[in-house]
Formats: sequence, C-alpha cells, structure tokens
Amino acid sequence: MLRPIIRQAPQGWPATDTSVKKDNDSIADIAGPRVRVDGCWRQCRKRAPDLSRRRWTLARTSGGRGSHPQAFHANPELVWQFYSERRKRAATVSPNPGHRALAELERALDERFFLCTQNVDSLHEQAGSQRLVHMHGRLMQTRCSRETCHIAPFDDERLYLSRAEIPTCLQCGALLRPHICWFGEVPFAMDRIFEQLRVCTVLLTVGTSGVVEPAASFVRMARINRTRAIYIGPEEPANSKFFDEVVLGKAGEVLPGLVKELRG
Ligand SMILES: [Zn+2]
Repeated sequence: MLRPIIRQAPQGWPATDTSVKKDNDSIADIAGPRVRVDGCWRQCRKRAPDLSRRRWTLARTSGGRGSHPQAFHANPELVWQFYSERRKRAATVSPNPGHRALAELERALDERFFLCTQNVDSLHEQAGSQRLVHMHGRLMQTRCSRETCHIAPFDDERLYLSRAEIPTCLQCGALLRPHICWFGEVPFAMDRIFEQLRVCTVLLTVGTSGVVEPAASFVRMARINRTRAIYIGPEEPANSKFFDEVVLGKAGEVLPGLVKELRG
C-alpha cells in the first residue's frame, strides 16, 4: 500500500511546498490519478482528461448520532431534551466558507457531484447544496419511533422538553422521535451511497476520524476502481494509508481555495 502524501495547508489551497512534488509525481505515475488537487495541479492538469467527464463523490463526516434506541424507549423525555437543546443551538449557527465552497462545486459539476454527510445539521442546505444525503439523519426532522410504521420523516424545529410535550404518531400512536440514526441502527441511503462510491472517480473526504464505520470504509470501497482519494481535515485520520493525499487543515480554510483552483 502506498503511503499518502501528508501536508499542512495553513495558508489555504493550493499547498505551495515544492519539496513534495517529487513524491507527488511518483504517486501519479504509480496510481495514475486523473485529478490533481494539490500543489502539482497545474502540472498534472495538462495530462488529465476532461474534467466534465468525472464524477465526484464527497464524504463529509463528523459525529451526530448521540444516542441509541434503548435509551429512547427507557427515557424519551431525556433524549428529546438532548436533541431539543441541539435544535436550539443549530438555529444560531451559519454555514462556513467550506459549506459554501462545496455548494459552489456542486453548481459547477451538477449531476456529477454527490455529497454524503454524517452531519445532522442543515448547514449544507443553507449554503445551497442540493445533491446530498444525510446518512445519519437530520436534526430538524422527526419521525415515528415504531420501526414498522411507514410515516415519512417530516420537517420539525419544535422543542420537546417534557414527557407530555412529546407528540405521538397520528397513524399508529407510538411516540415520535428525532430522525437521527442512533448507534446500532443502519445509516440511511446506503444503497445510493454505495452506488456513488462505485462510479466516482474522485473521492474527497472531509474531517472524519477514519474510525467510525461504515464511513471509514468508503475510501477502500471507492479505491477498488482506482478512484483518486483525498482527505482534508485538521488531523491525520486513522485510515490515512488508504488515501492518495492527506491535507492537514480546516475544511473552511482549505476547501474554498481547492474549489477556486478546480474552477480555474
Ligand atoms: Zn407510527
């Protein structure tokens, strides 16, 4: 397995450390990358095929699950208080430049862009992203707690702070719960995500620890087809050896430069 190129990007994108160019070239020769998004971008762009024919998959990750089904059944009031507090806090935050850069990239690539996020907030939507799935659910949605009930999740920004305030399902009478994938539950939209991992030619992974499954395995799945795999985040992930490049930096600082460079 090739070791990834690891670099710091404190000044934004692209990285300018010319000392790593030799290594980059060797990786390029061996792995045959189709897209370069580091300091060698200009050099390699000449031999890259038309960007318009590429399909991108982006795994945007961070935690957000917070609980498990047993905890909800044992004490739904406590669980709803936790998520109500998170709903309240979510209303006070805004998209950062990283969110906006990804929305801009989506506008440029259109149907060739796909965003899979573990985040449960709506910051990507607020920034303008449309082609995305929330594999761990959405904080601002509620659904029935009965697994066999087919009531669809619905938008809901209300806070439920007491047992009496928790609403019940109009169809089956069970308590409503946050539309969040809790520990022990299967993440959402996995078929769609696996399909995108199968067809993408560039996988950009942002801010994950590389430990939590199934997201930690996405890079290995994508690389079956020699997908170019790039990681961006403040710390080296546990699965860094599977990436072609690991760029150390905050997404909000690195991604805008990356997108600007890609759009040329
Ligand atoms: Zn129901």
